[in-house]
Amino acid sequence: MEEHNNNSGRPNGGGDDNKNPRNRQTILMFLILAMVGILFWNFLGNMGASNKEIPYNEFLEMLENGEVKSVDITSSQINIVSKEKDAMGREITYYTGLVPDYHLQERLEEADLEDYSAPVTDFRNVVLSAIVNFLLPILVLWGVFALIMRRMGGGGGMMGMNVGKSKAKVYIEKDTGVTFKDVAGEEEAKESLQEVVDFLHNPGKYAQIGAKLPKGALLVGPPGTGKTLLAKAVAGEAHVPFFSLSGSDFVEMFVGVGASRVRDLFQEAKKHSPCIIFIDEIDAIGKSRDSRLGGNDEREQTLNQLLAEMDGFDSHTACLILGATNRPEVLDPALLRPGRFDRRIIVDRPDLKGRVDILKVHSKNVKMDDTVDLEAIALATSGAVGSDLANMINEAAILAVKNGRVAVSQKDLFESVEVVLVGKEKKDRIMSKEERRIVSYHEVGHALVSALQKDAEPVQKITIVPRTMGALGYVMQVPEEEKYLNTKKEIDAMLVGLLAGRAAEELVFDTVTTGASNDIEKATRIARAMVTQYGMSEKFGLMGLEVRENEYLTGRTIMNCSDVTAAEVDQEVMRILKTSYEEAKRLLSENREAMDKIADYLIQKETITGKEFMRIFREVKGIPEPEEEKKAAEAGQQNETVRAEVKPQAENAGSGEAEKPEE
Ligand code: ADP
Repeated sequence: MEEHNNNSGRPNGGGDDNKNPRNRQTILMFLILAMVGILFWNFLGNMGASNKEIPYNEFLEMLENGEVKSVDITSSQINIVSKEKDAMGREITYYTGLVPDYHLQERLEEADLEDYSAPVTDFRNVVLSAIVNFLLPILVLWGVFALIMRRMGGGGGMMGMNVGKSKAKVYIEKDTGVTFKDVAGEEEAKESLQEVVDFLHNPGKYAQIGAKLPKGALLVGPPGTGKTLLAKAVAGEAHVPFFSLSGSDFVEMFVGVGASRVRDLFQEAKKHSPCIIFIDEIDAIGKSRDSRLGGNDEREQTLNQLLAEMDGFDSHTACLILGATNRPEVLDPALLRPGRFDRRIIVDRPDLKGRVDILKVHSKNVKMDDTVDLEAIALATSGAVGSDLANMINEAAILAVKNGRVAVSQKDLFESVEVVLVGKEKKDRIMSKEERRIVSYHEVGHALVSALQKDAEPVQKITIVPRTMGALGYVMQVPEEEKYLNTKKEIDAMLVGLLAGRAAEELVFDTVTTGASNDIEKATRIARAMVTQYGMSEKFGLMGLEVRENEYLTGRTIMNCSDVTAAEVDQEVMRILKTSYEEAKRLLSENREAMDKIADYLIQKETITGKEFMRIFREVKGIPEPEEEKKAAEAGQQNETVRAEVKPQAENAGSGEAEKPEE
């Protein structure tokens, strides 16, 4: 979950939890000061005493010799002030132990002292010194210890100090101020939640018929799709308080702390009913209990407590628990049974319309000029989630300010799309001439093959300016429309396009570089999916050989077949890749002249648009320019559009780069 600015952090569910850190700090400061005070007190006490100890007989000798000025007898020692002075003219003082000497008084009287005194036993002094010397240090030490224990989130209710009480960050917002209007797209999710809102509004209407409020709903989807935002919107629409907490806040080192936190949270929430309790990343506590990796007592106890609390809610307590997760498959079945999180609301990546809407919501307060076409941006950002899009708008606004403009233009937006996907331009990197040539041919290889294959998306931009996220150059492509399905022909074309960079290197330089590692990785993944998931290979036909393990996060798959079959799958994948590579080489060698010309042009310009690319391509091939482009060229219009998929050329094997999941 991301923290939102409207999350005001007002006093919250854990009672005085938000104030506590400050209070605790004050107490700690006070205790430390008290400790220092006591030490200082004792130090002063010692300062007051003689600075040199002498034996009792030496003291008697001094008395006899008339060297003593005055004597002060305390309950524990005799302080002696000598008549002698030190070099600086200060009095010299000594002290000695108390000896049961019955003639002491006589001796003192004989010694002709200025004065001598003995302690008056005052009961109050005894009590005071007992407090200062014994009780206070114990209290201070106990206080410090208790605070340290609390900091560690340690054991419940130590010495009645409530040490285990929920310190988790519970946010309660009386009114979130977020409504369904703030959540763009996600119409289905909103629709499912609408009835819950209605329920919270008019519980009576439902109670009359005997309908019960659903206890929990699970918001499932990839990170950044607006799950937290939706939960807030439900609270905002229903005008009920919003409690929010992350699942990981419950899990602590000590067994039982999480469970006590769950108890606290629900107790507090019940007081504010009706309300929404939002538990983000619920998989942190809700992981299946029969995990193969061995149990985790603390998590299991916390989960059990959560289940018990959910069951304990009666229908009069109108509290709805919303959980968010991107790993629904790991959740414990007990959590998902009817009466608990039985509703599953999918909050998926937005489609084209959803993306346009999200961009609109976020650009509401951003000044934009008339060049801006949010549809084009949405088309270019297939696979992006709400938080990416919000981020892009913000980046664009920052870019506009940086360039000294007062409104965001389409160019800023496209630039920010690139920044989010492939990083910033690395202008200071100096590449050798030879390397620039290789990168240039590599990228032109991709672009040319795409243009030559009708089924591939049109090329929009080619660049050989390196980017901070590892790409040395890339080709931008944009689909003419949003696609939900890919035909086999399109996938084949995609593979040929992906391998064309490497093919160009081999054709032109008769050698190959590390630059194709990312293309190879992608192509292999696609080819494998063709064989194991899409039923697109002749050899295995419709056999499903892989299952998706983790739908919303990494989309990782696991093989679901014998080792022998897995080896055969590898052979088949290899065959597909080889065929695609040969095809790429064939296409490029047949169009060598176009490739050389465009690559030369790219080396000079560093970045060329799809139109420039097509112009050279048509020139070489002798294809006449389409009418509208001619007109546009004459009008000098430079209408720059962008892409959906970026094909970065990785710097070296394993280097990271921005990549959208394959749709
Ligand atoms: P999640 O909880 O799914 O990880 P969040 O709800 O925290 O995602 O979303 C992060 C941010 O992304 C939000 O604060 C919002 O600015 C933006 N966002 C995400 N989805 C949407 C959406 N559908 N409409 C508007 N903004 C969105």
